[in-house]
Amino acid sequence: MVSRVIPVDPFDLVIFGGTGDLARRKILPGLFRRFCAGQMPREARIIGAARTELDASGYRDVVAEAIGEFIGHHDYTKDQLTDFLSHLDYVPIDALGETGWKELQELMAGSPHIEAYYFSVGPRLFGDLAERLQRWGMADSECRIVVEKPFGRDLATARELNQTLATYFNEDQIYRIDHYLGKETVQNLMAVRFGNMLFEPLWNAQYVDHIQITVAETVGVGGRAEYYDKAGAMRDMVQNHLMQLLCLIAMEPPARFDPDAVRDEKLKVIRALDPVKPHHLVRGQYGAEPGNEEEMPDYRTAVDNPRSRTESFVALKTHISNWRWASTPFYLRTGKRMAARSSEITVVFKDTPHSIFAEDAGRHRNVLSIQLQPNEGITLGVTIKEPGPGGMRLIDVPLDMTFAEALGEEGAEQVDAYERLIMDVIRGNQTLFMRGDEVEAAWAWTDPIISGWEARNDVPKPYDSGSEGPTDATELMRRDSREWRKVSP
Ligand code: NAD
Repeated sequence: MVSRVIPVDPFDLVIFGGTGDLARRKILPGLFRRFCAGQMPREARIIGAARTELDASGYRDVVAEAIGEFIGHHDYTKDQLTDFLSHLDYVPIDALGETGWKELQELMAGSPHIEAYYFSVGPRLFGDLAERLQRWGMADSECRIVVEKPFGRDLATARELNQTLATYFNEDQIYRIDHYLGKETVQNLMAVRFGNMLFEPLWNAQYVDHIQITVAETVGVGGRAEYYDKAGAMRDMVQNHLMQLLCLIAMEPPARFDPDAVRDEKLKVIRALDPVKPHHLVRGQYGAEPGNEEEMPDYRTAVDNPRSRTESFVALKTHISNWRWASTPFYLRTGKRMAARSSEITVVFKDTPHSIFAEDAGRHRNVLSIQLQPNEGITLGVTIKEPGPGGMRLIDVPLDMTFAEALGEEGAEQVDAYERLIMDVIRGNQTLFMRGDEVEAAWAWTDPIISGWEARNDVPKPYDSGSEGPTDATELMRRDSREWRKVSP
């Protein structure tokens, strides 16, 4: 089986913040991989634009180093790299001033290519970039802009940001990135749900006992301490990534697989979400790793704020008030410094209505598990007879739905989320990007949770680094006679 690589149309991609961490770690290595795969056409140009004083050759050195660091030298040839670098240019620019804009305008003038502007800079610069793009005649109705999270810090700021961008661009020109949506498995989830007759009839409160979504990280706040302490897990993870996964798992089948049909259905899910009751919410803050306090300090030390009440962990239970999901609980959990890095959506089906087998045969439930990190894949736990002469004993076996064997080597190729999403920007396909009203609806649901914590002066529960989170989170499930999936290394 050969995966088809269809080259995109020639493009000019300007990366504002082209020397920053995200550009070096994800965007540029991703573009290089698409170049090596033959998807980036020869006429394409990538123009870095950032504050750093560099010329084109200096920028190529920066990018070559980043590619060496984040892809690994052995995975490409020197010729491939040289060839790729010849597509790169650079303009020192100030998003808040006038430096560099004339030079960028001259570079872009008269280009017949698709024009895309990636705002890989802090969100406080989005408005200034948009305004200058328009003032310098680059914001025509054909161009696209790509914006990164965080998209606001509450409903009011997200709305303001949407309004600012809407002054200069139409909604169909704005690509709000949530890289979770670019994962192969997330799209496979839609294929599994809507391409098979098998699952959809069971995909409702009658057959599904509950759904859990976990995004566990082993890292702490790292270099993002200042930002993170003002944000917390609710803003940083739940409002965007977990919400997007929840939408895809819970939405109704769209009429067509097109951007607005899909995003309309996602929006309906967010709007049908119940407010979360305080006793269905657990906040946590990580402690130091016992015996390794120097290297793995507690959260407050890491953010240098001894009185911080910011959460590095959230677990919650919510419901979706519609016909499909009424009475099915959705449990969401995310945290830093947990036992393992693992992102997983789990659909736990109900027991069979009646067991024909003896008590001691054991009872089992079908569990569909969609893993996004560290490895992507979908498994379905099915109950079969334990082989052998031991009588009728039931066991669960995982049915691997990634079908690596059937798809062969090409099928096993994992394309990074950023690669796919950037190619979608060039193709003009917004299906995997958040629409402005979705982002606002997600904040409208999140805001009361955060303001409730603030009003109650809520103090997060401590949890050990390397653990499954606070015990209250375990209790949240136990009270309902359910268990979280283990976050295991
Ligand atoms: P960074 O601090 O490493 O880089 C910032 C870039 O912006 C640099 O290239 C800098 O030169 C440029 N810049 C800053 N001020 C400027 C100005 N006035 N004019 C022109 N250029 C200016 O930041 P980053 O980690 O690359 O993050 C960029 C954006 O992406 C942020 O909004 C961040 O929240 C978001 N983001 C980053 C990551 C990540 O993994 N790094 C992940 C998700 C989202």
